[in-house]
Amino acid sequence: MLKVDLLLLARTHRLEIDQEVAADDPLWQQIGARPIEPLTVRLDVQFAGRDVIVRGALQSRLALTCRRCLVPVTAGLEEDVAWVFRPGLTKQQAEDAEVFTLPDRGDELDLIDAVREQIVLSVPQYAMCSESCRGLCPQCGANLNVVQCDCQEAELDPRWAALRRLQTD
Ligand SMILES: [Zn+2]
Ligand SMILES: [Zn+2]
Repeated sequence: MLKVDLLLLARTHRLEIDQEVAADDPLWQQIGARPIEPLTVRLDVQFAGRDVIVRGALQSRLALTCRRCLVPVTAGLEEDVAWVFRPGLTKQQAEDAEVFTLPDRGDELDLIDAVREQIVLSVPQYAMCSESCRGLCPQCGANLNVVQCDCQEAELDPRWAALRRLQTD
C-alpha cells in the first residue's frame, strides 16, 4: 500500500499511483479524524537526479464536529502534494531542507508517513457548521441555531429584570 518500487522506477523513470485508503485503515487512528469515504491518492513519481519527486493530490471527506454547537459536520479534504525524497540526509538536515529522507538501503519507498503528515496538517482545527453558527447557550446548553432559550433575554432585557424584581419584592 502506497509503496514505490524504486527498481521499477529506475527502469521506467516514472510511475503513477492511483489507490484508495479505506475509511477503516489504521492510518486514520493516528490522524485523529474520521473519514466518511476512502482517501483517494493520485500521485506521479519521478527521479530527479538522485531525488525522488512525488506530485499529485489526496482527496476524501472528513466527519468533524462544529466547535461552537457540536453538531456533526463534514469537510472536504483536498490536498495538492509536492514531496521531495532525498538520500544521504539526516532527519534534521531533511527537516531543515523541507524534504523527506530517502532510505539509502532498500528497493522500496513507503509514502505512508508523508501522506499521514500531509493530512494531519490539512485537517481543520476549528470546523464550523456555518460562519454564522450561534453556538450553545452557556447557561442551559440549548443549541441556539435551533431554539431560542430564555436565558439570554432574562439577562439582557431590562424589562425581565424589572419583572423579576417585582416578583421578589
Ligand atoms: Zn455550529
Ligand atoms: Zn439558555
